[in-house]
This record gives sequence, structure tokens and C-alpha cells, in this order.
Amino acid sequence: MVMPPLPPVLADWREAPRVRALNDRPLGADSRYVLCWLQQALRARDNPVIDAAVRLGNALRLPVLVYHGVREDYPYASDRLHRFILGASLDLGAGCEARGIAFVRHVDRQEQRERGLVHRLGTDAAAIVAEDQPTFVARWQADRVARRAAVPIYVVNAACLVPPSVIGDNVRGRSGFLRQHEPERATWSKAGDEAPDVSRYDGPLPFDPDQLESAGIDALVASLAIDHTLPPSDMHPPGRAAAMTRLARLMKEVLPGYASARNDATRPEGASGLSPYLHFGVLGPREVMAAVADARAGGTHKAKFADELLGWREWFHYQARGLARPEQYGRVAEWARRTLAEHADDARPDAEPLAAMLRGETRDETWNACQRQFLVHGWMHNNLRMYWGKRIIAMTPDPETAWATACYLNDRLSLDGRDPATYGNMAAMFGGSPGDRDRPVYGRVATRGDGSTRNREQGATWLAAALQPPAVSVPDPLPGDAYLAGAWPAKT
Ligand SMILES: Cc1cc2nc3c(=O)[nH]c(=O)nc-3n(C[C@H](O)[C@H](O)[C@H](O)COP(=O)(O)OP(=O)(O)OC[C@H]3O[C@@H](n4cnc5c(N)ncnc54)[C@H](O)[C@@H]3O)c2cc1C
Repeated sequence: MVMPPLPPVLADWREAPRVRALNDRPLGADSRYVLCWLQQALRARDNPVIDAAVRLGNALRLPVLVYHGVREDYPYASDRLHRFILGASLDLGAGCEARGIAFVRHVDRQEQRERGLVHRLGTDAAAIVAEDQPTFVARWQADRVARRAAVPIYVVNAACLVPPSVIGDNVRGRSGFLRQHEPERATWSKAGDEAPDVSRYDGPLPFDPDQLESAGIDALVASLAIDHTLPPSDMHPPGRAAAMTRLARLMKEVLPGYASARNDATRPEGASGLSPYLHFGVLGPREVMAAVADARAGGTHKAKFADELLGWREWFHYQARGLARPEQYGRVAEWARRTLAEHADDARPDAEPLAAMLRGETRDETWNACQRQFLVHGWMHNNLRMYWGKRIIAMTPDPETAWATACYLNDRLSLDGRDPATYGNMAAMFGGSPGDRDRPVYGRVATRGDGSTRNREQGATWLAAALQPPAVSVPDPLPGDAYLAGAWPAKT
């Protein structure tokens, strides 16, 4: 497919490989602003989406209007997710205003519905600049707006250090990806915000924006028609300050021993806990890697961290970008789907009801302890996720239900869910490299034991950790998730 051209001010930009045009409409005439619509890149600085909008605005002599909206009806909307998103939104708004850029927000709710708000804001815009995100709703919503809008919509990658487009289109394996990705990293490590040279937008708006006060967010969230059985995470407070605290902890406590401690889930200093903040763009990989470069830690540890944050995370972003539906079971390797299908009718003595899985009350004590991290912290250690993900294949009636259940639990409970890393890792759990043995239920898909946690010195203490899970509501049956099925009503 031939991509519509970019205007020269974006085509000539050093960050141009991050940008694509989703339609070929002409720039709006007599417009009031350039609309910058943020969904997941919720940071005011080092944000290429905002910078692209500022560049375009400067060239057109128009101010930028940044818009962030949160709806009640996205799948699994909960106190946990809403609180995290709105906390980030608060700092995003303050940060935009500090840069001299107008920011408006809408929290959709019964007494204040604003349907089609992006479209309505777009009618006064010369162009819309949005995010290029391959999973969850951002891609659908941007495509939908692109079909409807009378003006151009440009989408910008803000999630990766190296824009996926510079890697080329047909890289199949991670080693081929790394061969291209590693030499590019230095080029894309330079940050620098674009400065608006047009006065802040102060004109009319088609709605009454929500001015959030930090103190008022809890009451607002409590009033919404969302899942109130899933509380916010104390481990991952919302907002920029919390992300910066985690970044400082990474530099001081985590990085100096990362390569050796990262697989030990019983040691809190083995993991940065940054994934929720990265998923919602509260901070970006460029900023994290700059901190890593400055940290006092050995080269092995820094290299291992870079392998996770850039080598794995950006590989999954790259993969997702090339898939029409990165979140669906069909992405699992063909050999793995075949072998799992051949064993779909095997007896499943480890099968568990959904309620027991969701609440972490199965017969598998280790799995329950993993699940409690999701329930209480909205996050799980990487090493545990591998055991957790593999075991779901044995706990559910067939491989497709296993995939749907794993995605459901991950996406509803985890603050970093619905990420390219979610479905990429899940596909690795359901596939990976074929083993030689053909086992019941798994066929040639590798299984995984819990020894890497249970047998640690602190394994017994970890297992006994007194995490009190919330009494989350249990769907009956597993929801035919509209999002996973591709049918979420993407009204914007
Ligand atoms: C079954 C399964 C499901 C997963 N689901 C998610 C998910 O929903 N969202 C998510 O962000 N990650 C997911 N991961 C990857 C990984 O487990 C988490 O990114 C990591 O545990 C986050 O904790 P951290 O920030 O402390 O990681 P750290 O060890 O501190 O790593 C730093 C960063 O590197 C990246 N990273 C680390 N490990 C991986 C990995 N295996 N793949 C991709 N990126 C990685 C993350 O952005 C992470 O924040 C999943 C892994 C598995 C096996």
C-alpha cells in the first residue's frame, strides 16, 4: 500500500520515520489549531506525538491543542486502570501548559457524554496528530477517525526508542531484528522538545473540558460506571513523580545487580517495575536509557537491561506493527497451534474453574501466588509470568480458551496489559521452540515448572506472602471479549 505523503515540515524532520499519514485529505483551511490527540503516550516532554504537532503548528502558524479523553466503556475499565490513567493525565495537562501548549481533557460519564469528540474537535483543526500504537484501541480509533475526518491524520510512534519503520518490513526473527536495531540505537537516543512559536490556543471549544484536581480523582472514579471491584495498585501509584521514583530506584538499586537478580522473583530489587509507566507512556524508553547510561552499574547489567527494554520490548512492538490482529490466538506459531489442537481432547486433570483462577484459588499454590501479584499489585514479575502463562494451558479446556483466559486475566488485572509485549510473550508461552517430547495437553510445546521461584532461599517466604487479594467480580462465563474478538465499538 502506498503511504500518503507527509507535509515537508514532517518529512524533513529528524524524527520523520516515526510518522505516517493515515489518509490523504488536504490540510484544513481557516483552522484554529493543530489537534494533538493522545491516548497512551501520556507525557508532556520527550513525546514525539506532541513534537510532530508543534512542528506542524509552527509551520502553519497555528497553535497546538492537546486532547486526552477517557471513556467508561473500554473493556475492563476499572478503578485500577482509570485511576492510573487519570493520574497520568493530570501531569500530562500540567506539563503541556508548562510548555505553553493548551491541553483539554474529557472524562466521559453519564452526566457528561461527549460522543464523537475527536471528530468534533477535528472540524476546527488543520490536521490531527495522533499515536501509532499497534495494540488495544489506539490503532482502531485512529483508523476510524482517519476514515471520517475531513483533514489529514498523522500518527506518530512514541513507544519505541528506534522507530519500527527504520527496521524494514520483512524481518522474521529476533536475531535479524537485533542486527538492524542495535546500530540504530545511538541515532535515536537524542532527545529535544520542539518549542511552540505560536501563542497558546485560547479560543472556543466544542465542549466543556474537565479540570481534574488530584484530590478529586478518587471521587470522580467512584462515580463512574466501571469495575469498582478492582482497586488501584499501591505498588504503582499514578503519575510522573511515581515513575521518576521508580527510575531513581532502577539506577540505584536494580541496575547494579540486574543481570544476576532479574530471574529471582523473591528479590524485589531484581525488577524495575517500570512496565505500567512505559505502557501508558508516562515515561519513554529514551528517558529510561539515558538514566541507564548515567547509572553506576556494570556493563553486563546495563546490557541485559537494554536487551529487555529495547531488544525484547521493541521486537514485540515491531512484530505487532506487522500483524492485523496482534492480540489474537492466530498469531501463535502454526506448529504450536497444530500440536496443541492434536491434544485438545486430552484429559485435563489440572483444569480449574474461571472463578478459582481469577481469584487465585486454584489447587496450584505457586500459580495462586503469581495471580495474587496481578490482583493486588496490578503487575507480576517476569519470571513468574512465564510459569503463570504456561500453566493456563493445562488449567483450561482447550488451547483457544487458554489464550482467551490468559489475555483476559492479564488485560483486566495488569496495569501493563494490552501491550505488544503482552501478546508477544503470550505467543512465546504458547509456542516458542518445539520440544522433542510429545506430552499430554501440551504436545511439543515446552512446559515450565515453578522451581526457579519455589526452590530459592526465600521461596517459602515468598509463597507465604500475605497479599490480601480484592474480591473481584467474576464473569460467568469467560466474556466473549469484544476487544479480543475485534468488535469493540470504537466510537470516538
Ligand atoms: C506470559 C507473559 C505475559 C507478559 N505480559 C506483559 C504485559 O502485559 N505487558 C508488559 O509490558 N510486559 C509483559 N510481559 C513481559 C515482562 O514480564 C514484563 O515486561 C516485566 O515483567 C515488567 O516488569 P519490570 O518493568 O519490572 O521489568 P524489568 O525486568 O525491570 O525490565 C525493564 C523493562 O523491559 C521490558 N521487558 C522486560 N522483560 C520483557 C519481556 N519479556 N518482553 C518484553 N519486554 C520486556 C519492559 O518494558 C520492562 O518494564 C509478559 C511476559 C510474559 C512471560
